[in-house]
Amino acid sequence: MRRWGWKPGGKRDGFQIWRYVSLISFQWIFFFLIPEFLFRWAVEYQWVGERLAHDPAFAGQAWRAYGLVYAWPLFFYTFFGNPSQVWVVWGLILAFGIIPVLVLFHGKRYCSWICGCGGLAETLGDRWRHLAPKGKTSIRWEFMNSIVLAAAVAVTLLVLARDFFHIFGKPAQAGLEYYHLFADVWLVGILPVTLYPFFGGKVWCRYWCPLAKLMQIFSAAFTRFRVSRFAIDANEKCIACMECTRNCQVGIDVMSYALKQEPITNANSSCIGCGICVAVCPMEVLTFARQAAGPAGLVQITTN
Ligand code: SF4
Ligand code: SF4
Repeated sequence: MRRWGWKPGGKRDGFQIWRYVSLISFQWIFFFLIPEFLFRWAVEYQWVGERLAHDPAFAGQAWRAYGLVYAWPLFFYTFFGNPSQVWVVWGLILAFGIIPVLVLFHGKRYCSWICGCGGLAETLGDRWRHLAPKGKTSIRWEFMNSIVLAAAVAVTLLVLARDFFHIFGKPAQAGLEYYHLFADVWLVGILPVTLYPFFGGKVWCRYWCPLAKLMQIFSAAFTRFRVSRFAIDANEKCIACMECTRNCQVGIDVMSYALKQEPITNANSSCIGCGICVAVCPMEVLTFARQAAGPAGLVQITTN
């Protein structure tokens, strides 16, 4: 917040300050205080109602409270292991109701305003943000998050099928164990943080996160149907200093969009809406769009 909350002339950057307040608040409240303390108190003092407080499938599983904000497929455990119906209903509303609406208005800002993986990258990983791989090859490697998303979908279907057909028992268990080992332990936990000093903070979010891929699909579709409210526009003042490109943590060549005055959307990039390119631009070229953006942007023709 100290690095990005104030611009070089000392002017306050409200967008960045609120972004860091949001990140810090979500980590403290939803990923620490609620699952570790408040959930237990809510059960003990029956804030959740007498019925839920006495339901062992709900009361005895405080860890499921991480699913209050972590959506499927990032946290697919919400639906596994005989959950209380409350979590199943909430998980469906979150993944297929709240997330798409959030994406409609804010693109993939879940990654830069809410998520714990993004929060660690935006704080601990921030000093290496300029090391994010750039260029066409690095963008091609983003196909890997489609594979992780497909694996998450396959494991989810297998585990759900197991409840109806016993034949899926072993494959479902094996799928869960392999996914846990490869995705949750290596791809979320160990590899990306180890790679911060070499490839910047967004290795998991950019290349492997299945939720980021799902939001990308939603956001790109909204953009193509011209209903998305998320885009970054550029005016004609770009001086090609490259500061925006250098500081983009997901390796987007922001300057090339700015020089062409082409809006950045999720149909043409994996932008997560962190706004750092907007903050570092010395010419105030970039702004978040206030209108629905189409795939190629709209050109306004005026007559005198
Ligand atoms: S293009 Fe700008 S807003 Fe989007 S991820 Fe890169 S730095 Fe953040
Ligand atoms: S930081 Fe601004 S002026 Fe510099 S290249 Fe990017 S858009 Fe152009």
